[in-house]
This record gives sequence, C-alpha cells and structure tokens, in this order.
Amino acid sequence: MEATRTKHFRKRDAILSCIKGTHVHPSADWVYAQLKPQIPDLSIGTVYRNLALFKEQGAIVSLGTVQGVERFDGNTEPHVHFICTGCGRVDDLPKMEVPQAFCSEAASQTGGCVECCQLTFTGRCSQCL
Ligand SMILES: [Zn+2]
Ligand SMILES: [Zn+2]
Repeated sequence: MEATRTKHFRKRDAILSCIKGTHVHPSADWVYAQLKPQIPDLSIGTVYRNLALFKEQGAIVSLGTVQGVERFDGNTEPHVHFICTGCGRVDDLPKMEVPQAFCSEAASQTGGCVECCQLTFTGRCSQCL
C-alpha cells in the first residue's frame, strides 16, 4: 500500500515538474510523451486527471484549446501569449504586460471583481510565414 502511494505521488510530482519546467505550454499528450519513457506504467488518464487537479488547485493554468487540444501553462503569473494558428505553438510575450486599465474597465463594466485576465494574440509565427 505504501509503495503504491509513493508511486502515485511520484507520478504527480513528475507531471507537475514537467509542466513547470517547460515553456512550450504543453498539452496532456505532450506531458505523457515526455514522461512515458521514465515512468513506463504511466497512463494518459493519470496525466489528464492530474492536470485537471493542478488546474483546480491553481498550480497551473489552462490556456484553452489550440487546434482542438487543451494547452496548459506552469507559469501562473498573468502574462501575454501569442498563439500560432499554423503550427499551434504558444509563446510568451514577456515584454508585454496586461494593462491594468483593462482589468479596472472590465471590473467596472461587470460591477464585479476581476481576478484574472488572459491576453492572447493569435496569428502566424515567423516560421509559418
Ligand atoms: Zn507557426
Ligand atoms: Zn505562458
């Protein structure tokens, strides 16, 4: 029983550090392909379940679907993304900031409280052009 539990957490840790350690904004399939050689008994279902859990806990964020596949970001700080509609790559635009005015405007229009703003540009990356 102990061994099973340790194994369980080892998988969970591996999945989290995989997503925290990359800038590719991976899908569940990508994480699975990275970890499968190291953890032969890993299943894609385990990856999906853990990603959903991390998302719920706020440890990672979902970027929504790109070309029909949900993509994740281990960087939970608000930052700006560029998504290529050609190859599906997702890049951070670290030099751009989400304008504070956007958030206050959204808050005043809803009369509510804005907790998060995801700003995403879509287009074609330099390689797809
Ligand atoms: Zn591209
Ligand atoms: Zn990002």
